Amino acid sequence: MAKAGLTARYRPQNFAQVAGQDFIKSILSRAAGQDRPSHAYLFSGTRGVGKTTLARILSKAINCYNGPAPEPCNQCSSCEQITRGASPDVWEIDAASHTGVDNVRKLREDVAYSPMSGRYKVVIIDEAHMLSTSAFNALLKTLEEPPAHCVFIMATTAPEKFPATVISRCQHYVFKRLTHGELFAHLCFVLDTEGVSYEKEAVHLLTRRGSGSVRDSMSMLGQVLALGDEGLKTADVRRVLGLADQELFLRLMQHILDQDLVRLHEMVNYLLEQGLDLGFFLQEMAQCWRNMFLLSQGGQEAGKVLDLPAEEVEKWREMAGMFAASTIHAGWQMVLESRKSILGSYEPGISLELMLYNLAYLPELIPVSGYAPEPQPRGETRQNTAEKKYPAGGEKKSLNNEYKTSSSPGEPEVVTENFQEFQDRGEDKAEVQEEKPPGTEKDWDGFLDYCREHCRDDMTLARMLKQCSASIDKDQLTLKPEEEYVRSALLRNGREKKLSTLTGSFFGREMQVVFQAGAAPEIFDASPEEKARNHPGVQRLMDAFDARIMDISRNNDKPNS
Ligand SMILES: [Zn+2]
Repeated sequence: MAKAGLTARYRPQNFAQVAGQDFIKSILSRAAGQDRPSHAYLFSGTRGVGKTTLARILSKAINCYNGPAPEPCNQCSSCEQITRGASPDVWEIDAASHTGVDNVRKLREDVAYSPMSGRYKVVIIDEAHMLSTSAFNALLKTLEEPPAHCVFIMATTAPEKFPATVISRCQHYVFKRLTHGELFAHLCFVLDTEGVSYEKEAVHLLTRRGSGSVRDSMSMLGQVLALGDEGLKTADVRRVLGLADQELFLRLMQHILDQDLVRLHEMVNYLLEQGLDLGFFLQEMAQCWRNMFLLSQGGQEAGKVLDLPAEEVEKWREMAGMFAASTIHAGWQMVLESRKSILGSYEPGISLELMLYNLAYLPELIPVSGYAPEPQPRGETRQNTAEKKYPAGGEKKSLNNEYKTSSSPGEPEVVTENFQEFQDRGEDKAEVQEEKPPGTEKDWDGFLDYCREHCRDDMTLARMLKQCSASIDKDQLTLKPEEEYVRSALLRNGREKKLSTLTGSFFGREMQVVFQAGAAPEIFDASPEEKARNHPGVQRLMDAFDARIMDISRNNDKPNS
C-alpha cells in the first residue's frame, strides 16, 4: 500500500470532512447555502489547521453547478476543476513569491472581469502577511469597492502584520489548534480507512507531537507508515521522530531521585548525541511529572485518565511513591518554567543539565524557617530547647530559594520529644568534623555518611534515611520517617535487609531496626491560628525583627507554597 501523499489523499473535500473548526465551518457553509459569501475573508491561525483547505471548499461550494447548497457536490465539472486546481475562476496566489505591487495591480485588473464559468471569481492569497505595504494599499482599493462577483480569501499565520484598514474590510476568522481529542479522532479515522492496525499510545504520541496541527501530524504519520511495518507501533513512532521513550524518562527520574549527577550528566550527553528534539523532550518530561502528581494524589482513578498502557502506569505509580508530593509539584513547575529559557539558550545542553541538577536537589532546598536566625529560648512560651527535634537530613543546602518545599504556616514544625540529640549544631561540630573523616562517628550522622559510602548501588536508601528522625538505644535503632512515602520506600526492594546489614557493620553489633508508627505527636492541640502563631519560623522572624502579629489569615490558593 503506497503511503506517500497521505496528506493529499485525506485532504477534505467538503465542510463535514474537515477536522475541528466547527464554528467557522458552520458559518461558511451557511453563507454558501444562502449564496451570500462575504467579499473578503481573513483566515488566521497556526500552520496546518485547515485555513487553505476551508478556502478551497468554500470556493467549490459557492461555484458548484448543483448549488447554491451548504456543501459542494464534488461531482460537477466546476467542483472537479477546483479540486484539480485547474479552474479559470479560482486563483491561488502564494504571497511569499508575489509580494510586489505590480502583481496586485494586475490582479485588480483581472478581477474586474466576470467569472468565466462559475458564479464567483475567488482569489486565495496564502501567507498574505508577506505582501509589501504598497501591495496592501493597492489591495485595499479593491476591497473598498469590490466587484460584485469577486471573493478574496486571505490566509495568514501572522495577522498582526496586517494593516488595520485591511482587517476592518474582512470577515476575520481565527482558526484554533485542534484539541487532542479532535486530532486523535482524525488520525484514527485515517488509520481505520487505510486498514492499518495501530497501538493507541502510538496515535496519542503523534497527536501530542502534532500539537494541534493536522498537517504536521498527518505528515509524521506518513513518515512512520513509510517504514512499511505491519501496523503503527509506539516504538516506531519514537524511532522515526527521534523521541525519547518511557524507559529513558523512568531512568532519568531514578537518577534525579538518587541525586546521581554523573548519570544525569551522561544522560544529557546521550540526548544531545541522539539529536532528540529538546522542546518535545521537555514537554514530555513535564508530562511525566504531571502523571506522577496525578498518580500520587489521585489514587486508582488517576491511572485510568492517563494515555499510557497499564504496565507503564504501574511503573510510574511506583516511581511517584518515591517522591514527596511537594517535590513532584515543584518539579513539574520547574520543568515548565525552564522550557523557554533552555530552548532560547545559546547552550541548551548546559541549561538542560542545570535544570536536571536543580531537580535532583529540589527536596533539599531551603525551607522557609531557614530565612530567619536560629531561635532564642522564649521562656515559658517555648518548649525546653533541649527537647527540640533532631533535624532530619542535617543541614539543608541552599540552591534556589524559589522552589521551597516547606510546611505551610498552618502546620507547625513538629517538636518531637524523647529523641536523642546527638550533637550541637554549633561551631564545635565543624571542628570535630574537620578532624575525623566522614563515617567514623558512631552516631546517626555518621551512619548516614556510611550508608552513602557503602550503598552506591541504591542511593535511594541513603536519601530516604536522610528523611528520617532517629534514636539509638543500646541495640535498637528507632526510625521515624518524616512522611509515609519514606517509610514505604524503605520497606521496598529488599532495603530492610540491607539496612540491617549496614547497621551491623557500622555499629559493630547486631541492631534491631524499628519503625516508629503513627503520625508525629504534636506538642499541643491548637487551632490553625494558634499553630501559625507558634510556628518556629514565625517565632524566629518575630525575634529577628522585634515584630508583632497583626493578623493571621489562611492561604488556600497555593497549597504548596
Ligand atoms: Zn459541484
